[in-house]
Amino acid sequence: MSKKPQILKEIQNKELPEVNYAYQKTISYSQMSMYRSCPHKWELQYKEGHYNNDPNIHFTFGTSMHEVIQDWLTVLYEESSLVADDMNLEELFQEKFITLYQEEYKKFKNTHYSSPEELREFFEDGVAILNFLQKKRSTYFSKRGWHLAGIELPIVMNVGNNLVYKGFIDMVLYHEPTNKFYIYDIKTSRSGWNAKAKKDETKQMQLVLYKKFFNEQYGIPLEDIEVEFFIVKRKIWENSDFPIYRVQLHKPAAGKNKLKKADRILEEFISECFTPKGKYQDKKHAKVVSPLCKWCAFNNNKELCDKS
Ligand code: SF4
Repeated sequence: MSKKPQILKEIQNKELPEVNYAYQKTISYSQMSMYRSCPHKWELQYKEGHYNNDPNIHFTFGTSMHEVIQDWLTVLYEESSLVADDMNLEELFQEKFITLYQEEYKKFKNTHYSSPEELREFFEDGVAILNFLQKKRSTYFSKRGWHLAGIELPIVMNVGNNLVYKGFIDMVLYHEPTNKFYIYDIKTSRSGWNAKAKKDETKQMQLVLYKKFFNEQYGIPLEDIEVEFFIVKRKIWENSDFPIYRVQLHKPAAGKNKLKKADRILEEFISECFTPKGKYQDKKHAKVVSPLCKWCAFNNNKELCDKS
């Protein structure tokens, strides 16, 4: 294993502010994204605490897949390629997938939230993704000059009076010869992102905000930070004449204008939802009734949302 560069030691040893939940509130990209899709939904969930914890197979699959990829990359960069190539990712995935499913099943009052057929399908999709990744490892993850800067790297930044932005970056790689950092967010998707998904500003904002906070928290110059979505696809078109990859890489625009826009979106969210002292605004937030309501946990709860 090559020597860890000093800059990575500094990042990994950096002391971050502790959040005092007695008087501080945390905000996150998920909150902002929910607020942008429907302010009332954000109000119900975050301000009033109507959490809906019903499990679903996409969460179970996505979480297990993230963990396996992250464990594998940690071994690749912190131990060796040989050990990473030898890892039995199918077994690791099976263990995580089943354990998480069982935990969620218990929390859900011992009720199944998926069928054996669906579980098998998701499991097989996961195995196909992991086989692809392990086989094509050097296409996506080179070792020469590269280091792992962090997995689930924390961001904890004061963004206002008693308000803290809190998040975790899926994966950060460092390329020593060019002194550049690459921030990745791993997404699981059915068959990849289409043009509309790639243009979705709310999706892009996640990585733009990570770039901003990575710069502010760890002192890395903006010009040395790249961001990219690492999208793994459950389904590919098997009969294509061309090779179809299980991974789609998407670099969202994240230059000066996007950074300014991210600042504006963050400021708007804070001023719409919180007082200058960091308390929740005493007001009702608008409902956005749209076809997306059918995916909302409050869709059939008329007491909490009558959609009027
Ligand atoms: S059902 Fe629709 S309008 Fe109501 S909270 Fe959910 S997304 Fe908003």
